Amino acid sequence: MATRATCDNCGREMAINATGRPRRWCSDACRSKANRRATAPVETDSESAIRVVLGSADTTRQLLKELASRIASGDCAGREYNGVIAAAMGVYRAIVDGAATANSVNIGGSAKPPPEDRRRR
Ligand SMILES: [Zn+2]
Repeated sequence: MATRATCDNCGREMAINATGRPRRWCSDACRSKANRRATAPVETDSESAIRVVLGSADTTRQLLKELASRIASGDCAGREYNGVIAAAMGVYRAIVDGAATANSVNIGGSAKPPPEDRRRR
């Protein structure tokens, strides 16, 4: 019979107890980590894809440009896309409600800040 086993969490070798249930973890910390991992919600493929796309301003811009292009060309005309159009309108409203101002972006598409008011000088 083996006298040593490895921790299910970190892989560290540990002594086997002579009696009782075999140990699975080398420490309370490893037992806690293993339990947290086992009870963590499983991330779906779409959640993972969303995190990747929204994790980068460049891929987010590409996604929105592609969506705008598809909507404009009628590719999203089917009923199954009603939720997509509603979500896109939510994005539009959020932009109009303030994010565009915060980022100094003109709604027309230019990234340049608005010209300064020269009358104040
Ligand atoms: Zn361990």
